[in-house]
Amino acid sequence: MLTKDTGLTTISGFDRIGEENAFAVLARATQLAGEGKDIINLGIGQPDFSTPDHIVEAAVKALRDGHHGYTPATGIAPLREAVAADLLKRTGAEVSPERVIIVPGGKVTMFAAILMFGEPGAEILYPDPGFPIYRSMIEFTGAKPVPVPIREENGFAFSADELLGLITDKTRLVIVNSPANPCGGVTPKAEIDKLVAGLARHPHVAIMSDEIYGQMTYDGEEHVSLLTYPEIRDRLILLDGWSKTYAMTGWRLGYSVWPDALYDKVRKLAVNAWSCVNAPTQYAGLAALAGPQDAVHEMVAEFDARRKLVVDGLNAIEGVSCILPKGAFYAFPNIKATGWQAKKLASALLEEAGVALIGGPDFGILGEGYVRVSYANSRENISRALERIEAFLAKGS
Ligand code: PLP
Repeated sequence: MLTKDTGLTTISGFDRIGEENAFAVLARATQLAGEGKDIINLGIGQPDFSTPDHIVEAAVKALRDGHHGYTPATGIAPLREAVAADLLKRTGAEVSPERVIIVPGGKVTMFAAILMFGEPGAEILYPDPGFPIYRSMIEFTGAKPVPVPIREENGFAFSADELLGLITDKTRLVIVNSPANPCGGVTPKAEIDKLVAGLARHPHVAIMSDEIYGQMTYDGEEHVSLLTYPEIRDRLILLDGWSKTYAMTGWRLGYSVWPDALYDKVRKLAVNAWSCVNAPTQYAGLAALAGPQDAVHEMVAEFDARRKLVVDGLNAIEGVSCILPKGAFYAFPNIKATGWQAKKLASALLEEAGVALIGGPDFGILGEGYVRVSYANSRENISRALERIEAFLAKGS
């Protein structure tokens, strides 16, 4: 893969790979805090709760019970069975445990799916604004990234017509994400029905549905899993995991459901790349699915209260307007009327006001004019951050 004989630094693919600026903001916020500055972090995309005790204890017990070795590359059977049972309970969809693979985090599924379909000449559709790794990985493979606009006037849901209109004979994969990062949009069932109906005209296109925030919806908003459409099951890859639902981002645990024709390919990728997820983490994941769900409900209820607090507070600030997100734990306020460019504002707020958030363009071209506010922080800190943002903008610097 070396493209120059003169050195080791020019490597095709790796010159196109991107990253997540949220990690850079976290590093800078941590550095400033280390220097003694009072930083309020609304930048990070991870729950501020601890993993529930019974899940932690299950991992400790697994270690004490001697689960120290490799597991099957696809994951331990009881965990794959628990995933299938959980999907049936939550979505009504029947999934064979033989089509479930346990992977080290949600990201690994997008890595595998994009690697499978991405190559020069191929086109892959992805949401913009959207999770930055979609585009990064598409570019890595040499495929053409085709952004599907996610619009404020549409409640930050995707439009099936707009998406379908972007499909060409080169399209290999369509990525959808609802509830969504970074905008908090939840795409309604009618729109998903329309998407699935339209995909019938494009049998050459696979779909990856990122449903990692599937249990985080508010105001009775329904999360519609693409698994519930039998007509696309032979080309659907479902991405989900434990990171957000069970506050387990650092454990690196996710799963995906694959169509029959692709399952063995992803199994082989696992054998080549990561062998398996570490055993005690898999037992923790099993306890999470099989045990009480109270902690999940409590966390979602707390996020809901913060969501209202953050949106009301943002709308009270001159030049800022914010629609009420229906899912995930992000608000995506429109800051166009402040006159600031989004990334400059995010940087100034961190350096001068001690509030970390992420500029919208870090999630795609259509993110200009917006910032992402994660409300994975205490109500008290959210209120303090809102006061700081308001005071900073009022200063008119
Ligand atoms: N998908 C979306 C939309 C996300 O926001 C994230 C994490 O922020 C992921 C996937 C990756 O999750 P994980 O930490 O399990 O890799």
